[in-house]
Amino acid sequence: MQDETNLPGAPKHRARRILIGLIVLGLLGVGGYVLTHQSKKGPHQPATASTTPPAFNKKQYSLDKSSSIWVVVNKGRALAPIDYAPTNLMAPNVPLRLPKTDPEMQMNADAAHALESLFAAAQADGLKFKLSSGYRSYKEQIALFSQYAAQQGQASANRESAHAGHSEHQTGLAADVAPADGRCVVQQCFANTAEGKWLVINAATFGFVIRYQAGKENVTGYEYEPWHIRFVGQALASELKKTGQTMEEFFSLPAIPLDS
Ligand SMILES: [Zn+2]
Repeated sequence: MQDETNLPGAPKHRARRILIGLIVLGLLGVGGYVLTHQSKKGPHQPATASTTPPAFNKKQYSLDKSSSIWVVVNKGRALAPIDYAPTNLMAPNVPLRLPKTDPEMQMNADAAHALESLFAAAQADGLKFKLSSGYRSYKEQIALFSQYAAQQGQASANRESAHAGHSEHQTGLAADVAPADGRCVVQQCFANTAEGKWLVINAATFGFVIRYQAGKENVTGYEYEPWHIRFVGQALASELKKTGQTMEEFFSLPAIPLDS
């Protein structure tokens, strides 16, 4: 014969079940309270709603230091020292116009790596670029300007080429890029190639700006050069693309007339 206390529904078991039920209800109640209060003042709720993004900090990098990625060099602003040479030059691992040991195929290391990423992205979109010119030394720029002046006259050279100590190429941050197949190399028609159009859209993503724009000749001091890109870092490049401004305009620096 079975003991009555072992039967289901026996008074002893009923009392235990009621007790467990009460404990469960109590725990659910406490849990609910905690959850409710957490959702009211939980970490996902910001203390104050922010609607305006912080203003762009225009003083993150020097505009004067020759090794700064934001250095502004133009006909009115020289590098210091005038024969400045970057210390971290390297040839980017991309198609090159000249042998990779040629100094003109080198760039500032940050700019070189950014150029590798830019060319790789273009290739993924079916477009092949090559580097036409990167770094140019002070001495090389003297020779280049003299050559331009001898061929086209001083005035014309001044619109298209920089005096030594005033060239972005001397910083190692600039690159003249071209379609790998040799169309429109360092020519205005580059703007109408698929590569030129792609560059306008995508350069900023990799930290480059098209430095000498159409319609800004009397701000930058140079003719439109759709092939000349300048590394400034992704943040500034995006800001310049968004505002449509040159470095001179964005940083409130004096405009440089084309024929100065
Ligand atoms: Zn150039």
